[in-house]
Amino acid sequence: MQSEGKAFLYAKSAPTSAQVQGFEAFLSEKYGKTVALDFVADETIENGFILEYGKEVYNWTPEGRLQQFRDMIDEVRGRYRSSQQPEQMITLLKKSIEDWDLEALAEEEGSVLSVGDGIVTVEGLDSAEYGEIVMFESGVKGMVQDLRRGEIGVVLFGDDEDILEGGRVRRTKKTAGIPVGEGFIGRVVDALGNPIDGNGDIEADDYRAIESPAPGIIDRQPVCEPMDTGLLSIDSMFPIGRGQRELIIGDRQTGKTTIATDTILNQRDNGVICIYVAIGQKASSVAQLVGTLKKNDALKYTIVVCASASEPAPLQYIAPYAGTALGEYFMNKGKDVLIIYDDLSKHAIAYRALSLLLERSPGREAYPGDVFYLHSRLLERSAHLSDALGGGSLTALPIVETQAGDVSAYIPTNIISITDGQIFLESDLFFAGQRPAVNVGLSVSRVGGAAQTKAMKKAAGSIRLDLAQYREMEVFTQFSSDLDETTKRQLSYGQGLMYLLRQHQSNPLRLHEQVITLVAATAHVMQDVPLTKMLAFRQALFDHFHEEQGSLCDAIDTTGTLSDEDKVVIVEEAKQFVTRYLENINKES
Ligand code: ATP
Ligand code: MG
Repeated sequence: MQSEGKAFLYAKSAPTSAQVQGFEAFLSEKYGKTVALDFVADETIENGFILEYGKEVYNWTPEGRLQQFRDMIDEVRGRYRSSQQPEQMITLLKKSIEDWDLEALAEEEGSVLSVGDGIVTVEGLDSAEYGEIVMFESGVKGMVQDLRRGEIGVVLFGDDEDILEGGRVRRTKKTAGIPVGEGFIGRVVDALGNPIDGNGDIEADDYRAIESPAPGIIDRQPVCEPMDTGLLSIDSMFPIGRGQRELIIGDRQTGKTTIATDTILNQRDNGVICIYVAIGQKASSVAQLVGTLKKNDALKYTIVVCASASEPAPLQYIAPYAGTALGEYFMNKGKDVLIIYDDLSKHAIAYRALSLLLERSPGREAYPGDVFYLHSRLLERSAHLSDALGGGSLTALPIVETQAGDVSAYIPTNIISITDGQIFLESDLFFAGQRPAVNVGLSVSRVGGAAQTKAMKKAAGSIRLDLAQYREMEVFTQFSSDLDETTKRQLSYGQGLMYLLRQHQSNPLRLHEQVITLVAATAHVMQDVPLTKMLAFRQALFDHFHEEQGSLCDAIDTTGTLSDEDKVVIVEEAKQFVTRYLENINKES
């Protein structure tokens, strides 16, 4: 009889004819056609055998059986996690082991066609899905990123040294994901969720796919609660709400990362969980940042996800999605989460490298055509969930680096159009000592106003307009020498305001401190304080208020409101303080 198919049996020694008949009978029954068996001697197989028919592989070596057992245990763990009943673990395991039978499981295996630059082309995994994780013989994992006819492109999460042409590749039937759980808080992990801070293993509560659909309209509610940064220049004029996406954009070395870390520091004791995702940063800067967080006792509510510049591009590419998956885990539990992507320009560059290696056609600035989708599907996942879903929120502060202040380049314009506003940082201001170097004219927050605390709204009043007027007047009067008294006063008022917006790093201001500064400043109380003394004066003023008006300060912080009477009290108190302060200065000089 002519057989219709051909199978291969890999083993150390040849099977007996009875065994061959057995295999052939098994295959004919399974596939409904006659199959002839070819024996291939393989010295590397110590025990058992591997049966290969078409793309299906039956691995009956001890390793293969162990793998089957491991997969079973993994599956039990998955079921246990979703049941969330601790006492069930042992019962589940016992039952599964009793019921477990070594089966003739067909696995899909492919083989490596070519490998290079962290990209592997694999043949034979026809039903692998986009985003699925595949395993190589060396234990390195990869993610399917390119589906072509007859072959697939896989990006590697590790070293490609041990991956050889012709090597075996196994499907895992799992999409790329990251373990998540409370245990991650206070830790530094890589883009796959492995701890890299040397503090031991992390116990995960669940496993989440790194990509998941953004919440729909019905699942959301309006942004209505403030996410205070503790930075006067931002909270007063460009307030950020919980669930908002506010871009931090500026040239290199303009204090972008500092704004993000200051915001993290300001979340102490308010229950917000912070996630800092470092993409393509120097490992030393990330270490420094972790040091700052530790020093300020802020690491205990922060997770750092790090894919530094030395990491392979695929890890840099998935890092923000992994961080977001972690954030969503907490958001779905009703918590408020702040996530920082530092920075998305480097993320786009990593994706560009990856796409070019996968031979996708380059578009504008050599980025692939779907680079907008890359960031929109990431930032769309920030949300303020409806009360029915627990009311949690995910606030995103993406960071983008510009070249010479050019906001009209491809990536910056894309991300500006995706986010709900931007904080624009300027080199000139930064070097002039105006730090944080927020450009008041070009920055905007499109939704945060609704979430600003009442006290802040009332105190901030006209500060943005005043500053706009000041900037205009400054340009006008640049070359004129004799100015009338009113113009001079207006100029010095504006200058004073600009000085008051300066803030040292790691020094976020409390709500009442911001409110006092704004109320006093807009009432022109600080008009005569010399500019060089402005920051010292502000601190002295705070100390004075803490001593004399402690209850008012507390009331502002706890209620978030400011009555007209409070405003009068603040102005009067500040006026008296200024008079004494100026007298002291005059005495000294
Ligand atoms: P890069 O483009 O390299 O990522 P960046 O824009 O993130 O830079 P930072 O690293 O935040 O900038 O800040 C650059 C330098 O400026 C740091 O040395 C930081 O200490 C300093 N700096 C930032 N903000 C302030 C501030 N408000 N007061 C004093 N120094 C500051
Ligand atoms: Mg930075």
